[in-house]
Amino acid sequence: MKYYSTNNRRHLVSLKEAVIQGMPSDHGLYMPENIPDVDKNFIRNISDFSFHEISFSIAKLLIDNEIPDQILHSIIEDALNFQTPVVELEKGLKILELFHGPTLAFKDVGARFMARVMSYFLRNTKNELNIIVATSGDTGSAVANGFYKVDGINVIILYPSGKISKIQEKQIVTLGENITSLEVDGTFDDCQKLVKKALTDQDIKKSIDLTTANSINISRIIPQTFYYFNAFSQLNEQEKNNLVISVPSGNFGNLFAGILAKKMGLPVYKFIAATNINDVIPEYLKSGIFTPRNSIATISNAMDVGNPSNFVRILDLYKNNYVKIKNDISGYAFDDIETRKAIKKIYEKYEYVTDSHSAIAYLGLLKYLRNHPEISCGIFLETAHPAKFKSIVEKEISTEIQIPARLEKFLEYPKLSKPLKNNFSDLKQLLLSR
Ligand SMILES: *Cc1c(COP(=O)(O)O)cnc(C)c1O
Repeated sequence: MKYYSTNNRRHLVSLKEAVIQGMPSDHGLYMPENIPDVDKNFIRNISDFSFHEISFSIAKLLIDNEIPDQILHSIIEDALNFQTPVVELEKGLKILELFHGPTLAFKDVGARFMARVMSYFLRNTKNELNIIVATSGDTGSAVANGFYKVDGINVIILYPSGKISKIQEKQIVTLGENITSLEVDGTFDDCQKLVKKALTDQDIKKSIDLTTANSINISRIIPQTFYYFNAFSQLNEQEKNNLVISVPSGNFGNLFAGILAKKMGLPVYKFIAATNINDVIPEYLKSGIFTPRNSIATISNAMDVGNPSNFVRILDLYKNNYVKIKNDISGYAFDDIETRKAIKKIYEKYEYVTDSHSAIAYLGLLKYLRNHPEISCGIFLETAHPAKFKSIVEKEISTEIQIPARLEKFLEYPKLSKPLKNNFSDLKQLLLSR
C-alpha cells in the first residue's frame, strides 16, 4: 500500500516514509492510495474473532507487506494490551469504552501502535529521530507514555499553559528521559502552529530528523479503525443492522478513522460528529462552508480545536462532495452547561460515570436518535476515563471518583517541563541546539 498527499495525488510514498515524515512537504496529509475492501465473509463472521485477530486483518489491508506478518502480530499484541469493550446502558444505547489503556484515554491506541511501528521502521538507522507534538491534553500523555524510553527517539511536547487538567499535565511533565515537555504561553492552536512551522522549516530540516505524532500521522489513524470493527463484533445481529456511532470530536482523527472503516466495508449507517462550542464541522455540515477560527476553552478541553487538521482527509475521502459527506455524517454541538447536565443525567439514570467529552457524544447520539426512531442501535465513544477530568465530573455527580492506580502514580512525581514563549524563534533555537 502506498500513501499520497491530499495536496498531490501523484506524490506517492511508502508507509515507512509517510510515518517517518508525518506530514508531506506540500503541507497536505497522507492518505492510503486506495481504500481496501474488507471481505464480506469476514464481516459476517466477525463476532467469532478476537480483538487482536480483527486488528490484524484490518491492519494487513492498510499496511500490506510493509511490515512482515509476524512483526505486525507482535506490534498489535504489544500496543493493544487492553480491551475496548462495548457496555450497554439500555436496549439500543451503548458505550464503546476506549479508556482502558495506560494513560486512560483512547489516544493510547494510536500512540502505542505508532511508537512500535516507528521503532520497527527505524531499526537500522543511526540518527536519532525527534518527534514534536502539540497537545490539547490527552495526546501529550499518550504519546509521551507510548514513546517513553523507546531507543533512538526523542519526544518534544508542547502544551498550552493552564489549559489542560492537572492530571493530564502530570502525565506529560513528569517522565523526563527521552521526553521533553514545553509549557507554552498560549492556546492549543498556538502550539499546533508552532509545531507545523517547525516541521516545514528548512534550517531545522537540515540539522535534525524531525517528525510529528499528532493525529495527522497516518500510523495513529490506522489502529483507530480497529476498535470500530471490534465494537461491531460485540453487537447482536439486530443491532448490526442499522448502527449509528457518535464520536466526540476535536481534531477529527477519530471520526476520520471511523469513516475509513465504513468505506472499507464496516456497516455503519451514520456517524455523528459531536463537538463542544468549537463547532466548525457541525457548521460546515449545516452550511457547506468550512470556516476555521480560534478555539475557545471549554470543559471538554481535548476537543478545543478551531481548525481541525483531519478535515482535509474527510474532504479527500469524499472527493469534496458535500452531499455525500452530509449523507454519512450528522453534526451537533453542545455547550458546557448542556455537557454538565448530561454527566449528571447519565449518572442518575444509569449509575454510569462519563467524562465531559463522552457526555457530548451521548448528547449528539440522543439528538439524532430522537428524530430517527427506526435506528436499532446507537453507540457513543467514551474517549477518556472520568478520573482524568475529576473535578468537573465530581461536581455533577456529588460522588468521589476513584483514581485508578496507574493514573495516581503520576501525581507524586515532580514537574520537569520548561516554559516556552509563543514565539517560533525560541522553539527553533531550542531544536537546533539538540
Ligand atoms: C483527543 C480527544 C478527543 C478528540 O479526538 P479527535 O480525534 O482529535 O477528534 C476527544 N476526547 C478525548 C478525551 C480526547 O483526548
